Amino acid sequence: MILSKAPQLTDEQLEEVQRIVGEFGCAIQVIKGANRHVYAIIGDERSETMVNRLLGLDYVERVDRIESVYKLMNRQSALSSHQVKIGERVLGQEPVIMAGQCTIDPKNPQLFLETAAAVKEAGAHVIRGGVWKPRTSPHSFQGASESMEILIEARNQTGLPVIAEVMEERHLVVALEAEVDLLQIGTRNALNYSLLARIGMDTHQRGTPVLLKRGRHMGPIDEFIAAAEYIVAGGNPNVIFCPRGTMPALDGYRNHPDESITPLLKEKSWAPVVVDPSHAVGRSKYVPAASLAAIAYGADGVIVETHLEPRKGIGDDPKQSITPDVLRQLIRDVEALWPIQSRWR
Ligand code: PEP
Ligand code: MN
Repeated sequence: MILSKAPQLTDEQLEEVQRIVGEFGCAIQVIKGANRHVYAIIGDERSETMVNRLLGLDYVERVDRIESVYKLMNRQSALSSHQVKIGERVLGQEPVIMAGQCTIDPKNPQLFLETAAAVKEAGAHVIRGGVWKPRTSPHSFQGASESMEILIEARNQTGLPVIAEVMEERHLVVALEAEVDLLQIGTRNALNYSLLARIGMDTHQRGTPVLLKRGRHMGPIDEFIAAAEYIVAGGNPNVIFCPRGTMPALDGYRNHPDESITPLLKEKSWAPVVVDPSHAVGRSKYVPAASLAAIAYGADGVIVETHLEPRKGIGDDPKQSITPDVLRQLIRDVEALWPIQSRWR
């Protein structure tokens, strides 16, 4: 990773740096951080000669070689001061609440729009809505591209940013064309490295924040952090970790709730953490407690499945969505807990 003396290199300087690393079989990926650009060396950066030639350039401040499977996500990385923003909200400064239906029912757009309005009224900052759905059974409803229009209509009506999951490149094209504000990578694609890398590259210019769910069969925390590295190495530093429960499930819950990994993620990496308590516990009555636990562990926010009438929902909504009234109280409680937790950050 190359740090320049100025916040960014000029075109000529970048060309020179690219020429040098190219001689050693490496390439440069520019990552536009909030305050400065970082120049990641992609490839085997161990060559002393290459590093010495780079250090010899008068506009280069330093060259960091971090010995870790993830370099950019590392707390020691020059990106560690990077701040991820959602609209004007800076993650870490104030709690971020994302809420809305698990799944948009294309046969009932009105219900989604009413949920979105109620979620906004309850105080949420981002509207969630599943357009395409990864389902265990190939015979279950898989979502529908036309739901993207409904999601965008919800943004137009509420003025809030929207988040949707993409499962493949075809979805990514539709989501980026619709200018979705945040992208979600679901638990099943958390290790789909080619998709992660593609998202990083395709969002390089606009820096769309990407919420990366933890794979439900993921092992060590480093594996989760390294997956995020694929997105950032593509050029987009706006990545958010999302613990959402892992398998095997804790008896009685849908998964094994894992909000407790939040401080460990923060110890190793700089990216913000937004916990998904809904999929972790899988039962609406336990979602408020799991959300508060996440905030107590230092999460920067939560993403909570919320539905105006859960019984009429599809996908996960009937069993795990809370109602907007419960969300309103939960947001108040999160705001009350936030300053208490900040003492322990
Ligand atoms: C979802 O958010 O509705 C979802 C399918 O999430 P996960 O990938 O965590 O199961
Ligand atoms: Mn869901």
